[in-house]
Amino acid sequence: MKVPLLDLSEQNQSLRPEIEAALGRVLDSNGFILGAEVAALEKELAAYCGTKHAVACASGTDALLLALMAFDIGPGDEVITTPYSFFATVSAVTRLGARPVFVDIDPRTYNLDVSQIESRITERTRAIQPVHLYGQCADMSELRPIAEKYGIPLVEDAAQAIGAEEHGVRAGAMSEIGCFSFYPSKNLGGMGDGGFMTTGDDALAHKLNALRVHGSFERYYHKWVGLNSRLDGFQGAVLRVKLPHLDGWSERRQANAARYRRLFADAGLTEQVILPFERDDCRHIYNQFVIRVPEKRDELRQFLAENGVGTDIYYPVSLHLQECFAYLGYRAGDFPESEKASRETLAIPVFPELKEAQQDYVVEKIAEFFG
Ligand SMILES: *Cc1c(COP(=O)(O)O)cnc(C)c1O
Repeated sequence: MKVPLLDLSEQNQSLRPEIEAALGRVLDSNGFILGAEVAALEKELAAYCGTKHAVACASGTDALLLALMAFDIGPGDEVITTPYSFFATVSAVTRLGARPVFVDIDPRTYNLDVSQIESRITERTRAIQPVHLYGQCADMSELRPIAEKYGIPLVEDAAQAIGAEEHGVRAGAMSEIGCFSFYPSKNLGGMGDGGFMTTGDDALAHKLNALRVHGSFERYYHKWVGLNSRLDGFQGAVLRVKLPHLDGWSERRQANAARYRRLFADAGLTEQVILPFERDDCRHIYNQFVIRVPEKRDELRQFLAENGVGTDIYYPVSLHLQECFAYLGYRAGDFPESEKASRETLAIPVFPELKEAQQDYVVEKIAEFFG
């Protein structure tokens, strides 16, 4: 049996007629850059996230960059964030010449350990950037009062967390700016690169709208040096076809996650495999189902690969140890929980169209490895 980590073919085939019709509309209208489809998508995304504004851009990476640019972050500034995330979380900070100040993660959720944040705030701290890793929100209800106390804006990296909630509030609606990605592996994936930002603040929305088109409101008049970071009409059209299905897909991921819990318990693997921790009163959308394997993670991964099961490691290198960030002066041992997670985590298939037989097989093979 083959169980890929992610297989989009069933999803795409089921929507094929609608997607082709939507692409045809763009072809007929010549609305290739932003345009009517993207404008409509932005309204739908704002409604979905429960925010006043949504501003589309070319990628999740750019969303993070544009968000920090909206606060004029640059050399001499510090941004507090996590070392256990995708690279773009931190490259957005360093790309602007600012310094990432890392705080270790909570080993249960893999998100920022909020209790460590206050001690890292200095007069140079210009933003705090939590990541909602794997589709579960960081502890925003603890974080927000700290940010408010010091008057520091929050920028959510919600790239993996569209539709995730904490106490009924959606990702992207818990901060000054939320940043999202349409990379195909996200719960709402495009057919290429794309991203968007959310905000409840009119002035920030206005600025983000300009920053994504070279910092101009009126063509050839530039208020800021922005980026060329626009979502194209084809992506907008495809994403509008997909958005109404998003909740159904996320519910299937949740059902798969719940089923894994039963299967792992029945297989008696609770020592060898630590299952994802779910925070109370939160909606985890399971962009990834990540198990912790304290012993022999790499050997298990190899064994699963030999048996046709796709897995991945998010992420194998803690960001403070990346070669390109050596100049920051961090060392191995500085963030022990992040480093430990990079040695122990393993993402297994949880995509919506995963079949029960495939799931059974994944757990059987893990049991066989440890048995
Ligand atoms: C995917 C992702 C990004 C970057 O998004 P792109 O659209 O690939 O640029 C940033 N942060 C996190 C946590 C991500 O998972």
